[in-house]
Amino acid sequence: MRKSVVAIVGRPNVGKSTIFNRLVGERISIVEDTPGVTRDRIYSEAEWLHSTFNVIDTGGIDISDEPLIVQVREQAQIAIEEADVIIFLVNGREGITAADEEVAKILYKSNKPVVLGVNKIDNYEMQELLYEFYALGFGQPYPISGTHGLGLGDLLDEVIKHFPEDLDDDEDEDRINFSLIGRPNVGKSSLVNAILGEERVIVSNIAGTTKDAVDTEFSKDNRKFKIIDTAGMRKRGKVYESTEKYSVLRALKAIERSDVVLVVIDADTGIIEQDKRIAGYAHEAGKAIVIVVNKWDAVDKEQDTMKKFEDDIRKQFQFLSYAPVVFLSALTTKRIHTLLPMVIEVSENHSKRVRTNLLNEVIEDALAMNPAPSIKGQKLKILYTTQVSTKPPTFVVFVNDPELMHFTYERFLENRIRDAFGFVGTPIKIYARQRK
Ligand code: GDP
Ligand code: GDP
Repeated sequence: MRKSVVAIVGRPNVGKSTIFNRLVGERISIVEDTPGVTRDRIYSEAEWLHSTFNVIDTGGIDISDEPLIVQVREQAQIAIEEADVIIFLVNGREGITAADEEVAKILYKSNKPVVLGVNKIDNYEMQELLYEFYALGFGQPYPISGTHGLGLGDLLDEVIKHFPEDLDDDEDEDRINFSLIGRPNVGKSSLVNAILGEERVIVSNIAGTTKDAVDTEFSKDNRKFKIIDTAGMRKRGKVYESTEKYSVLRALKAIERSDVVLVVIDADTGIIEQDKRIAGYAHEAGKAIVIVVNKWDAVDKEQDTMKKFEDDIRKQFQFLSYAPVVFLSALTTKRIHTLLPMVIEVSENHSKRVRTNLLNEVIEDALAMNPAPSIKGQKLKILYTTQVSTKPPTFVVFVNDPELMHFTYERFLENRIRDAFGFVGTPIKIYARQRK
């Protein structure tokens, strides 16, 4: 099920990023503690009462070399396209400006719910500044203070009232949802066309023909698939669509709704820093992953070219050691037929459950072969291991003291589990818990 998305719009300096950080702040600092992962600061999860949703700070999509009016228009457009509910933010101390009116004009034309937040109302005496904002035409303005954290509760109560109810309408347990991510021009849309053009692929719903116009459903050999955010791969043109932050935003949204993520690399240009960042998002989200090396036709091949390329991938994407690599060409369609079987395999591993007794045999053997080293004279004891969930497979190891579980030992156990049960293409998580 996808989460509702809330976008914050408003001209520069009204306090969008301050409010964004208020809503998601604690989560971002947790995420940034994860080594090797940098999370973009414009899209993140937030929580209010019983709702978990995602927030976009449209101000973070930097198109600042454009004139102010173009900037605010484009950012309002992003909000309309990407969000279920829009928080329109203004500065209570400055009154309504021409740029506010410009944003309002664009928001009127959409049929997305808009909640008006009047920021920088830092104390009760300033409440009277509120009234002039009724003139914007979005009903009751909500007074807030980003710096003092005031009024956000009432604003959010109103926001969550407008969340759509039918987000999980078409969940189909048998269908594999996957997305293709990668920097511009690696060949994502060519790959989609190549997949859909394969023999015996039956497309049932092409992007653009239905209400939810961004996904493509198809089946092959009686298996059902859905490509998430096909439209995001094809659109070009508007100023913001060429910014890296916007493509990251689209990618994060697509990853979230996927079971399997195809990380697409361009064999012709090789791996660059941006590829690693993008792959990092998929890894961090705990999705099944296949690394797809596209444009293999464009590479001059010698005997061990493929092996060298794979070695390079392993070196550069160390955090994706579990992900299989597929070499192919969307242009010539060579080896395209190997892709869907791989998607099926990693998806099955992602949702695999292993039997508890077998799991504990594997862990016992691992312990016997390589006992945990002592830490400060204390010895780790493993009492029992169990798989608590899937997607990704998650294991809890009950131990005498979790502090004694060093991450290198955890890695060793992970490798034993992988060797025994074959979790190709999926991350697995292991948590140590105390049991006396
Ligand atoms: P953005 O450009 O809309 O993202 O605005 P920022 O969040 O960067 O805020 C612009 C300026 O307004 C910063 O100096 C903030 O510290 C300040 N600011 C944000 N919220 C408040 C508030 O509630 N009260 C006051 N007094 N200042 C605020
Ligand atoms: P996207 O931006 O990731 O969706 O990339 P496109 O699918 O638009 O492809 C970008 C460019 O790469 C286009 O000119 C394609 O024709 C070209 N291209 C895509 N796949 C291949 C391939 O397998 N081999 C070669 N040589 N070119 C390709």
